[in-house]
Amino acid sequence: MEALGAYQIDLRNLSGDSHEYTYSLGDAFFAELSASEIQKGSLNVSLKLKKIQKSFNLYFHIEGFVFVQCDRCLQDLRLDVAIDEEVNVRLGAIPSEGDEVVVVSEKDGILDVAWLIYEFIMLHLPMVRMHAEGECDKEMIKALHKHQPVVDDDIEYPDADVKGNKAADPRWDKLREILNNN
Ligand SMILES: [Zn+2]
Repeated sequence: MEALGAYQIDLRNLSGDSHEYTYSLGDAFFAELSASEIQKGSLNVSLKLKKIQKSFNLYFHIEGFVFVQCDRCLQDLRLDVAIDEEVNVRLGAIPSEGDEVVVVSEKDGILDVAWLIYEFIMLHLPMVRMHAEGECDKEMIKALHKHQPVVDDDIEYPDADVKGNKAADPRWDKLREILNNN
């Protein structure tokens, strides 16, 4: 198991102004974080830390892949990840996490980069997570559609094509919308 302790940087006791860290994230990383959306993954992270006066500039490069659940068939979906992110960190009385700056408690001065890395990954995942057309687990789709007959692939439009005009039933328009969006 990967101990998350390696991801804790003691900002008050850094020697020198420039540091580099590398991490290899595997399935254990996501299991330890109890991260529900990302189940597994394999990523390399390089982190460059620069101390500039009283603040810390952190530059992350994260590359690899993660597995999430496919929205359509609920099976594993592999997503490639390549992320460059920068964040400024400083010590302060009240810890906080904003878009621009992360404030770490000056009392202990420990920055946990595991959560930062996880949040960067989440931020960069697409909103819609699906296999490419035709690559979903067909058995799962069948089983799922038993409970949602309205999105069944086998449904045939009422002879709209034959007559050359659209079916009047608004439910078919809705269905077409769903199919087109997939
Ligand atoms: Zn799928």
